[in-house]
Amino acid sequence: MADPKGFLTTPRETPKSRPVDIRIRDWREVYEDFERSKLEQQAGRCMDCGIPFCHQGCPLGNLIPEWNTLVWREDWQDAIERLHATNNFPEFTGTLCPAPCETACVLGINDDPVTIKRVEISIIDRAFEEGWVKPQPPTTRTGKKVAVVGSGPSGLAAAQQLTRAGHDVVVFERADAIGGLLRYGIPEFKMEKHRLDRRLEQMRAEGTEFRAGVNVGVDVTAEQLLADYDAVVLAGGATAWRDLPAPGRDVEGVYQAMQYLPYANRVASGKLDSPPIDANGKDVVVIGGGDTGADCVGTAHRQGARSVTQLEIMPRPPESRSDAHPWPMYPMIYRVSSAHEEGGERLYSVNTQEFLADENGHLRALKLVEVRNEGGRFVPVEGTERELPAQLALLAMGFVGPEREGLLDQLGVELDQRGNVARDGTYKTSLDKVFVAGDMGRGQSLIVWAIAEGRSAAAGVDAYLTGRDVLPAPIAPTDRPIA
Ligand SMILES: Cc1cc2nc3c(=O)[nH]c(=O)nc-3n(C[C@H](O)[C@H](O)[C@H](O)COP(=O)(O)OP(=O)(O)OC[C@H]3O[C@@H](n4cnc5c(N)ncnc54)[C@H](O)[C@@H]3O)c2cc1C
Ligand code: SF4
Repeated sequence: MADPKGFLTTPRETPKSRPVDIRIRDWREVYEDFERSKLEQQAGRCMDCGIPFCHQGCPLGNLIPEWNTLVWREDWQDAIERLHATNNFPEFTGTLCPAPCETACVLGINDDPVTIKRVEISIIDRAFEEGWVKPQPPTTRTGKKVAVVGSGPSGLAAAQQLTRAGHDVVVFERADAIGGLLRYGIPEFKMEKHRLDRRLEQMRAEGTEFRAGVNVGVDVTAEQLLADYDAVVLAGGATAWRDLPAPGRDVEGVYQAMQYLPYANRVASGKLDSPPIDANGKDVVVIGGGDTGADCVGTAHRQGARSVTQLEIMPRPPESRSDAHPWPMYPMIYRVSSAHEEGGERLYSVNTQEFLADENGHLRALKLVEVRNEGGRFVPVEGTERELPAQLALLAMGFVGPEREGLLDQLGVELDQRGNVARDGTYKTSLDKVFVAGDMGRGQSLIVWAIAEGRSAAAGVDAYLTGRDVLPAPIAPTDRPIA
């Protein structure tokens, strides 16, 4: 156990965020560094529970009490070894995970939970600083060739596991750079891309080959892929976005969040001078109250938007857990992300009836109406219609599943009822030697689930190719969050 009285004597403390007026002038991460001694005290709050519910909260099954204890004892090198035992990329989860482990922490029943995510990122940051993260190339090779399609967190986790298991792994990515949504989608202010680049460096040194700018299904056919490789992992994400077919949808100035955000990534990384879709000087409306919407809010503020309003059709969630989400479930509560701290307004229980254009065909306003939920149907409240001025509207309403045209159609792989790629308990699809991991099989989800699925699919592929049972498989395809 860490400090036996830590949870009684040390209050929860997290690092401060950089002042809003400074951070919205750059793309750097929001949080300031945290003193090492303070972090060790925070790790000391862990009670090393007999049944650590945080394990259950974490889809990777991270050994949280073990590394908390090691950090509290200042044994950081063993801490990274224990952390890497279950998580290939703690720097991605340590910056981006919504930390369902913390809402499942036993201390959280009647006190503030342990700052698990902060301990996680501190361990991996220190490990990189000290040079403890080294390439781990395989000691023996199997001679088997594996293609991974898609370079998001699920594809990268599968590739790293399979390379280390001795297979020759090639990762195909249609974008011009590797990383999936970690590269193009998730803003720099949530995770700076040097974190991704240094991990890719390690993977290259281990022997994983990356081919960016290759759209499988177009540049390489499915048939070619199946002929050239002993196994294929589909990790193409759930990139088909949900649209809003309201009148005026086609006016100039209405875009999908994922048309808008990648340009900002390119500007932040110096690949582009100015974004073709720019919020500068505009009234911006973001439709969709989730995390993608919050990313649009933070990006619009950094681009110098005149005003930013985020719309959500659902009512505002409660401030604290409701009876519908008792501990240790991940609760639906009102959350204020760093992007929301930076300004803007959030409107709940509203729907967009129409996009209104000016005489030049450019967006000038949205016609909104308040709605009430009647048994799952959102019914307009008469007399509440109004116009909200906007010159840029961004649709952040989620994703309906993977794109079918191209690769999936060519393969003829079976889909499940939700339109995702169907798989069995080993992550194998309906086709021989074809596996699936991440959002492409699970539907739109989280980084932590993508990594867990990538690891589990790698175990399935390795067993298929060699008949052995050596790689860990943290989750079954049917596992769901405790929610
Ligand atoms: C804007 C945004 C912000 C998010 N923020 C968070 C967050 O803060 N925390 C969190 O936990 N989750 C977040 N998510 C969700 C998270 O990013 C995803 O769940 C996760 O990235 C899924 O990983 P993946 O590997 O399955 O797919 P992806 O990351 O989507 O990667 C799939 C890759 O496959 C490539 N690809 C697809 N088809 C082909 C093909 N035919 N040939 C070659 N390449 C192909 C795509 O170009 C893409 O790069 C966010 C999602 C979005 C959209
Ligand atoms: S990956 Fe997420 S759920 Fe798991 S320990 Fe880290 S922050 Fe918690």
